[in-house]
Amino acid sequence: MKRYSAFAIAREAVRFHSGWERAWRSPTPKKKYKVIIVGAGGHGLATAYYLGKNHGITDVAIIEKGWLGGGNTGRNTTIIRSNYLQDPSAAIYEKARSLYETMSQDLNYNVMFSPRGVLMLAQTHHEVRGYQRTAYANALQGVKTEFIGPERVKEICPIMNIDGPRYPVLGGLFQARGGTARHDAVAWGYARACSDMGMDIIQQCEVTDVKRAGGQVTGVSTTKGDIDCEKLCIVVAGNSGHVAGLAGFRLPIESVALQALVSEPIKPCMDIVVMANTVHGYLSQSDKGEMVIGGGTDGYNNYTQRGSFQHVEETVRALVETFPMLSRLKMLRQWGGIVDVTGDRSPILSKTPLGNCFINCGWGTGGFKAIPGSGWAMAELVAKGHSPLTAEFGLDRFKEGRFIDESVAAGVAH
Ligand SMILES: Cc1cc2nc3c(=O)[nH]c(=O)nc-3n(C[C@H](O)[C@H](O)[C@H](O)COP(=O)(O)OP(=O)(O)OC[C@H]3O[C@@H](n4cnc5c(N)ncnc54)[C@H](O)[C@@H]3O)c2cc1C
Repeated sequence: MKRYSAFAIAREAVRFHSGWERAWRSPTPKKKYKVIIVGAGGHGLATAYYLGKNHGITDVAIIEKGWLGGGNTGRNTTIIRSNYLQDPSAAIYEKARSLYETMSQDLNYNVMFSPRGVLMLAQTHHEVRGYQRTAYANALQGVKTEFIGPERVKEICPIMNIDGPRYPVLGGLFQARGGTARHDAVAWGYARACSDMGMDIIQQCEVTDVKRAGGQVTGVSTTKGDIDCEKLCIVVAGNSGHVAGLAGFRLPIESVALQALVSEPIKPCMDIVVMANTVHGYLSQSDKGEMVIGGGTDGYNNYTQRGSFQHVEETVRALVETFPMLSRLKMLRQWGGIVDVTGDRSPILSKTPLGNCFINCGWGTGGFKAIPGSGWAMAELVAKGHSPLTAEFGLDRFKEGRFIDESVAAGVAH
């Protein structure tokens, strides 16, 4: 694969862009692979990439029922942060955040990582105490965050009304190296690198059954025929319960639609990400100028990938209190993705009751930020059978009551 560079752009400009190669191949599936990954979202692609890069395993197929990155990875609001409360969470999210810092160079693909700073507003005394506690925990974990007062909040984000009316801003948890990245580019960058290593990304191919014998997976049935494998890794987010069902085991997961919307583009007015969890809404400004606004989950389990009217109304009404300038904006479009939520709001990166089958799911409303760390850890688990980063995130924690409670950091926010 030819490298992307400023020189390549100049060269192609004079050749009328006739020399660019396809970013990834569209191969016909082979009969057998060493590892099959179901789901070509960010987590599946990152798992494949680190299997090749860190463990030298490249006989890998990534099977995707739609198009790569077309699930939650291409539908999220791209917030990246690592200010979680519990130690295992801080470890994997900070690993991911640090990998984002060099991802464009590692993949030779501009993922537009923008560490513009993430601010989580404290608008009740309860939140002040909660975020101060998180700031202390983060200091012990080596994650750089700080609790800041209302004046500093106003200085960082001048368009905010910090005085009320219902919930004045009392402070905020600020992570200066948090930010955003371009979600499609993350998927495309990993896909290009995987294809370059010789891995097969098979799109428009749904896994319809998991073939088993003697407590092991032997392969999968797909809409393009049966494919055998030595190891299977299921990474299908909101479809996890369904695909685990095909493999014969159940998951403590609920699937629910999470929605987002964007406004018409306006001039640059906000250069950080702000999350207002009490009123519930969060926003950042895209490079095109649109305000990217995150809403909530539907109040009932479902598999829809659509937006709904009441969410626009609820979310915008909530945010207008703190950002009065939003009241004049027109909303351009809205959408939804199916998120996979666990009871303790922490992910599952685990072995399964089938010896050679692994599962990565439960990232719920906040897994985009975790993609590189999750891929790194999951690849290690699949290759070696254990990983320090996944040790606490096994399925057995639900049997043994070892929950990793992130309901404050991840329950409503992203
Ligand atoms: C509106 C919204 C906003 C969000 N905002 C943020 C945010 O700001 N920050 C953040 O960190 N996270 C956010 N998230 C969460 C984040 O998007 C997800 O946690 C993350 O993208 C999950 O990635 P994934 O690779 O696990 O899943 P996905 O990207 O959904 O990929 C799973 C893939 O599996 C495929 N698949 C399913 N079933 C099968 C099958 N049977 N056969 C083959 N393929 C199959 C699907 O088609 C899909 O492409 C948001 C999510 C949504 C919906």
